[in-house]
Amino acid sequence: MSPDDESAAAVRDAFSLLGHEIRLEILLALLEDWHAVYTEPRSYAELMDAIGMRDSGKFNYHLDKLRGVYVREVEGGYVPTAAVTALYRAVLAHRPAERPADQTPSDPTPIDSRCPRCDAGAVLRYERGFVTVACSACEEWPGFTYPFPKNGFAGRSADAVARETARRARFHVGLARTGQCPFCAGTTTVDPCLEDGADAVEISCDTCTFLVGIDPLSPLVRDGRVAAVLADIGVDLERPDWELPEPTVRIESREPVRIALAVEGDTGTVTIVVDGSLTVRSIDVDR
Ligand SMILES: [Zn+2]
Ligand SMILES: [Zn+2]
Repeated sequence: MSPDDESAAAVRDAFSLLGHEIRLEILLALLEDWHAVYTEPRSYAELMDAIGMRDSGKFNYHLDKLRGVYVREVEGGYVPTAAVTALYRAVLAHRPAERPADQTPSDPTPIDSRCPRCDAGAVLRYERGFVTVACSACEEWPGFTYPFPKNGFAGRSADAVARETARRARFHVGLARTGQCPFCAGTTTVDPCLEDGADAVEISCDTCTFLVGIDPLSPLVRDGRVAAVLADIGVDLERPDWELPEPTVRIESREPVRIALAVEGDTGTVTIVVDGSLTVRSIDVDR
């Protein structure tokens, strides 16, 4: 079996374990009192009671199937594993059983932001779990797109959703640039896309489906030194990425890779030089 076949089989096995009423009842009973690492274990008898089972043989058979994957035996009883709490959280975040129209705008909604190319009003769309901020008028601007769980719309206006999606993306991408996938904690690979005319970098997870293509400045703004010099020349980092000044990108060298990003603020220009993994090599400020 290739590693891909192996992980497909692992995914199939993990999902198929959930497809039984009694096993679901056991997991829901365990998740009911879940308090992270402080979760009180539930004893065998308690658990049987909680799901109203009398047949101990049948109960044991299903508990055994879950053991190790979704249920762990500890002193004093059973607790849910990290895998099942992560699945539980994913359902709460993405609300797969809810119709999209229940919570989220299906039509483009105007927001209080402007297109960086033509200055027309920006709009927010939500499709397949992705928030997109785009121009209401032109096609020049590719816009900003990032996954945002459906749950994030609850209690928020379209403006707040746009802002929170931008904050979430910046946080995630900052983490991914420095080697950790924000979703699965696996290692990441940075591809600086050095073809002529490319003005985006790609960061992908080596394990899961995480992949972003972004302008090279976005992943750097969570770097402490970069944030300090940008603030110093009057760049307001509270603004979402698409409202930040667009950097001028120049490839200084390919062997080793050195990319210079010049960012113009109100009171000066900052030149940030990064290598092929987007590690900051030097910062120059010109006031
Ligand atoms: Zn526009
Ligand atoms: Zn990942």
